[in-house]
Amino acid sequence: MTAKQFLVSICCGVCGLLSGPPAFSQVLGAPPQSQVKALVGRLDLERYKATIKGLTQFGDRQQGTDRNRAAVDWIEAQLKSYGCANTERIRYVYIAPAPQPRQGTGAAKAVEISSGEVVKGVGGSRLRGFVQRQLPNNDPAAQTNPSLRALNAGPVSSGPSEEVYCTKVGATHPDEMYIVGAHMDGQGLGEAADDDGSGTALVMELARVFSDPDVVTERSIRFVLWNNEESGHVGSRAYVQQRASLQGKESPPGSGLYPEPRWLGMIQHDMVLWDHGMPGPDGAVSAEQRREADINIEFRSSAKFADQAMKLAFVLHDANENYATDYPAAVGPHMSNSDSDEFMDYVPAISLRENERGMQIGAGWNPHYHQATDLFSSYSDKDFRLGLNAAQTTLGAVAQLAGASLKN
Ligand SMILES: [Zn+2]
Repeated sequence: MTAKQFLVSICCGVCGLLSGPPAFSQVLGAPPQSQVKALVGRLDLERYKATIKGLTQFGDRQQGTDRNRAAVDWIEAQLKSYGCANTERIRYVYIAPAPQPRQGTGAAKAVEISSGEVVKGVGGSRLRGFVQRQLPNNDPAAQTNPSLRALNAGPVSSGPSEEVYCTKVGATHPDEMYIVGAHMDGQGLGEAADDDGSGTALVMELARVFSDPDVVTERSIRFVLWNNEESGHVGSRAYVQQRASLQGKESPPGSGLYPEPRWLGMIQHDMVLWDHGMPGPDGAVSAEQRREADINIEFRSSAKFADQAMKLAFVLHDANENYATDYPAAVGPHMSNSDSDEFMDYVPAISLRENERGMQIGAGWNPHYHQATDLFSSYSDKDFRLGLNAAQTTLGAVAQLAGASLKN
């Protein structure tokens, strides 16, 4: 018997580091399960929309403002009301940059990338077709609704910042967890309804479903609403810096409590509503959702855990085929520019979006991106339903990975 076999023989089922979670490949291709389907069925379009609407009462929730802090408090109150009761906060300091020169939307013609020309986008992506350049709006005059303009007028200041999370504690493996995240801050002086009210509401709805008293999971699931994503992932980086070394440690010893369960995977949600296709030569994007609308699941091919992240991405792809009601999912290798970047060298990390971040969002496929028009009223039920399908996808996957079941 080797030393490791001996250790497994004495602590199998308790010692997560040695017995370990199911490999992603063991979950890949798993047939649909009736209990997972029942859980996914607890998601609802009207509830999802209502949660996004609730977030929009805080305007664009820009980092370092009173409206941002009020939104964190509101999110925490919602999590508690769902029964995800033991909410906690990460605290860090945000240093605001000097104010930038005013820049509005400004209509411009799209640029056409010519045949054979290689133009790289973020995350290793390659841009194709018509590309529309977009800068974040920081011009208050671009907001035509006077009460929203007043709500978004509060100043940005440096100082202590906070973000909130809550945890579903695993019944048999409380020392291991999946992290399900989205960023609650926004910019553009609108309502940040899509970026990232849509992802924040998705994570909140999953927290609600998994916190139902009749739901049991073998492993833990942490629901995190990152702050300061738009200023460069400041909140998620603080989380990694403060907590990576605490993973899997029982505290106090013998208590059965694991303040930071070992990370098994990180799944980020960032803009999940709008998939209307490529801009035309005039720079305009269709007002209608494209018939081919899908959810884009991305991993980063250059990440330390790229192979496992790719497998995790395909677990979600499977879950989409098994549990999502309307829209398919596609997997790509260029995850970029979101909180998942901070985790990708520690743990398999992926992101879900309405479009690929590099080639599509980065080429101007969403005209509301970081604009004053990122309003609840800018999206149709088809758009909201795409976001709901992203929620169904992640819920189905995490239910299987964390070993969820319903009590009789
Ligand atoms: Zn975002």
